[in-house]
Amino acid sequence: MHLHEEPEPWSGFVLPLSIPDPSPRTRKVLIVGAGIAGIASALALAHELKPHEPNLQITIFERHDVLSTSGGAINLTPAAQRHLDRLGVLSKLDRQGADGGADVNEIELFSSRSGRSLGSIDFTDGNGNGVNGYKGRRVMRIVLSLAMLSVVERHPNIRILYGKKLARVTESHDDQTILHFEDKTSAAGDLVLGCDGVHSALRTTYVDSDRPSEYTGLSFLQTTIDTPPPPPPSSARTSTSRPSTSTSISGSTHTSTSRSSLRQTPSFTTHFNRSSSNIRPLSEPTTHMHPPPFHTTGLALSRHGDLLGSYCDRSHSTLFLAAMVQIPESLLPRYRLDTSPSSQYPNNDPRHRLAVHAALQEEMRSRFADAGHPWVRDVANLNTNWMLYPVYQVRPGGKWWRGQIVLLGDAAHAMPPRDESAAYALDDAIMFCRTLAHNRDESLPAIFSKYESLRRAPVEEAFNAAGRMWQTHRDMGFLEGRVKEWTMPWVLWKNRAVRNAAWKFDAYDV
Ligand SMILES: Cc1cc2nc3c(=O)[nH]c(=O)nc-3n(C[C@H](O)[C@H](O)[C@H](O)COP(=O)(O)OP(=O)(O)OC[C@H]3O[C@@H](n4cnc5c(N)ncnc54)[C@H](O)[C@@H]3O)c2cc1C
Repeated sequence: MHLHEEPEPWSGFVLPLSIPDPSPRTRKVLIVGAGIAGIASALALAHELKPHEPNLQITIFERHDVLSTSGGAINLTPAAQRHLDRLGVLSKLDRQGADGGADVNEIELFSSRSGRSLGSIDFTDGNGNGVNGYKGRRVMRIVLSLAMLSVVERHPNIRILYGKKLARVTESHDDQTILHFEDKTSAAGDLVLGCDGVHSALRTTYVDSDRPSEYTGLSFLQTTIDTPPPPPPSSARTSTSRPSTSTSISGSTHTSTSRSSLRQTPSFTTHFNRSSSNIRPLSEPTTHMHPPPFHTTGLALSRHGDLLGSYCDRSHSTLFLAAMVQIPESLLPRYRLDTSPSSQYPNNDPRHRLAVHAALQEEMRSRFADAGHPWVRDVANLNTNWMLYPVYQVRPGGKWWRGQIVLLGDAAHAMPPRDESAAYALDDAIMFCRTLAHNRDESLPAIFSKYESLRRAPVEEAFNAAGRMWQTHRDMGFLEGRVKEWTMPWVLWKNRAVRNAAWKFDAYDV
């Protein structure tokens, strides 16, 4: 349904032609951040607004000099996939072949203590069909970014400028907002979309300076490893007592695509800054591992944190591993590659890298090496480059807009990840752009308010649900750990209807 519009009398018979306004305006839209929200907003604006405003100019400003290759793999929910499909991104991903991501029918939960299955989070309707035709998909973030960029390249009115780190914002006398970047350049526009992520400079310097990001107390330790394909489904589930059918696994870096065809993809080599981001393994780690006890994605629950394993390519040759663990904020510097002023090592000192590597391995061992399940033990003992991703959030209740600036995605409402936040960033992008297009002659404050009235309640509900789920990853005592295992099947069952509703949500219904 269109916002505040009567249904067209001809709807259902023919598609109404989009008729350009008689005197098209030149609207300059500035987007800060080339992440999921930023690129999706540019694409959605081009679809929704360009037919009415042919002179529309969209510029995305990204602080990095090239697309970041870090971040490992991301899970796309059925809703995220549907929205990426509408934006033209999914077909680009599919064209990447095996690298375009692994189909995920379900996340299989099991006890790392006993190996017992604790249920699953299903991305299908129970008969193997996706929700509204879409399942889950785990894909390397860099692959997703490149697919989104290649769609952007089809739109001459969208350009991306790299190396533009936003520093501050001012307002001009002729009703324009001016963005000032750290390289001393600036840009003026009529509308600014703040898609600059959880630590958003637009939020903290202009829109809502009282709302800094805050550490959740939990972090991800992530890596990817090369692996042979999993055993056939009938033998895929390993009991803790089953004799090992060892497979050879070689550890690699979090950005490794060593067995992937990505390196042959021209657009990939264009954007992939290997020298700055690839970390050489510290040794040539080859180890023997038990096969993973899941088909595509599994989550081992323990009272010392949870361990996710997920293939992230269609040929199941790359396994993404992520431990979700409680780490106090005061200990974070010990695990970070960027040196803090209090660090005992100068910048880029190789000893610092070795110390971080050893500390992260020790963290993994101390939590998971005595697990009952052999695959979990093998992962804990891997000699690989674990990387730390502390998880930050932005508490609900803050301002989302001021003047000509609106915050979208994590900049507005970063929440603890439960494999769904990318979908919320996409929803924001599509819903805001449709609200703008349908109300394009209204003032920006009126448009921002309409958008906020649509988004605020569902986003805050999702935030609270993510917070509850996130609590289950923290350290707990023996008894609480057992209760977590016993109650998990019930928790999954209870949340099933809510999850399914979220996956059926269609931002294009606005
Ligand atoms: C460890 C971890 C795992 C996650 N896993 C999943 C998952 O599996 N599934 C899922 O759906 N979600 C997941 N999420 C959440 C998901 O990554 C985010 O919700 C999503 O990326 C938000 O997109 P965004 O575009 O709003 O922000 P971002 O992806 O953070 O993009 C922000 C962009 O802005 C740029 N930027 C920042 N500051 C400036 C500045 N001052 N000037 C210019 N540019 C700037 C950044 O470089 C970046 O490109 C995870 C999050 C974390 C932390």
